[in-house]
Amino acid sequence: MEKKEFIRAKNITRIYGEGTPNEIEALHPTNLTISEGEFVAIMGPSGAGKSTLLTILSTLDFATRGGMYLEGENAAGMDNKELSKFRSNFLGYISQDLTLIDSLTMRENIAIPLYIQGKSASEINSKVEEVARLCHIEKLLDKLPSECSGGQVQRATVCRGLVNDPKLIVADEPTGNLDSKNAHEVLMIFRELNKKGTGVVVVTHDCQIASYSTKTLYVLDGMIKETVERNEMSQEEYYEKLVQLTSEDIDEIFVEE
Ligand code: ADP
Repeated sequence: MEKKEFIRAKNITRIYGEGTPNEIEALHPTNLTISEGEFVAIMGPSGAGKSTLLTILSTLDFATRGGMYLEGENAAGMDNKELSKFRSNFLGYISQDLTLIDSLTMRENIAIPLYIQGKSASEINSKVEEVARLCHIEKLLDKLPSECSGGQVQRATVCRGLVNDPKLIVADEPTGNLDSKNAHEVLMIFRELNKKGTGVVVVTHDCQIASYSTKTLYVLDGMIKETVERNEMSQEEYYEKLVQLTSEDIDEIFVEE
């Protein structure tokens, strides 16, 4: 059966400071399609262009050139209102920063996407409690972020990304503040949602995290240098392959003495 196309990037580039002496082409012309049921990891060394690619795919930033198609529709033809409607109904964005609002409770923070959609108070409460249970923070909902640990706050940012039942989860280092057991739990949630058809795109430095995906894109110097599909590999075999792929990134941190 033909998979539904979620987003397609056609020859997108991103040039920061174009026309200035500090101009930098962080993303060279790139083509990429993410379809229903795909779970894509984006790996590569620091400064390679991973976050640049992710923010364009999630429509939070615009490509300098090239086209973005959202469920087949050209994003260039959409105004800000249509784009924010697309994000609100379609995307679950989870950032690496702990971007909760300090003066709101965990419950209120997680509920933000649903307030924006104008959902009723009872719908909001039941959905927030459902995702909080999934991430094991249901007992913390009436606390402020400052009363919770970094890992608990990170799980709340994951909940906020899932609360609108997104068709596509876009996550930038979503487990950076979690120990491996909690990171595994978050990735298992993504995997379960993915099995039901939700698309997942996750930027990570961590081969263990990437080994939950069905496909890894290795980004280097602003380009997708390599694509590794998991296919019939076991998770462990896939992980080993990703360790090999990224071994040069690690070499860079060792210096001759
Ligand atoms: P990664 O996520 O792989 O670490 P980034 O996408 O953040 O890489 O950055 C790619 C390149 O673009 C880097 O050289 C970075 O310094 C540069 N860059 C990123 N954001 C900006 C910005 N807002 N202005 C100027 N340069 C930027």
